[in-house]
Amino acid sequence: MHEAAVAQSLIEVILQEVEQRHAKPVGATISCGELNKVNDESLSFAFEAVARDTPCEGMTLRIEHKPLQARCKPCGRVFAVDVSNPQCPDCRSEDFELLPDAPLVLDEIEFEGPDDGEG
Ligand SMILES: [Zn+2]
Repeated sequence: MHEAAVAQSLIEVILQEVEQRHAKPVGATISCGELNKVNDESLSFAFEAVARDTPCEGMTLRIEHKPLQARCKPCGRVFAVDVSNPQCPDCRSEDFELLPDAPLVLDEIEFEGPDDGEG
């Protein structure tokens, strides 16, 4: 499954951060493009499975889907393509080029708050 491979690489990146910060990760936000759709449920499930017995266990995974973007040729505006009505929101032109779909990226890792009040 695609999602299992994605979950595995996410965990690897997060664990590297964990080692550097010596903090417990509590959540992560990832984003991916419209065409690069991963199944949210499958990914969360795969993530939980690979996170088991690691510092990532119990993390919350949020997945944001970025709309497909295009650049209008006449006016140069970059806009999110509405597939039911694909045209430039500024000049109403339908002469545009699609931009490469957003890759799946790890946007943010949240760590447990600083526990400097210890002792
Ligand atoms: Zn335009």
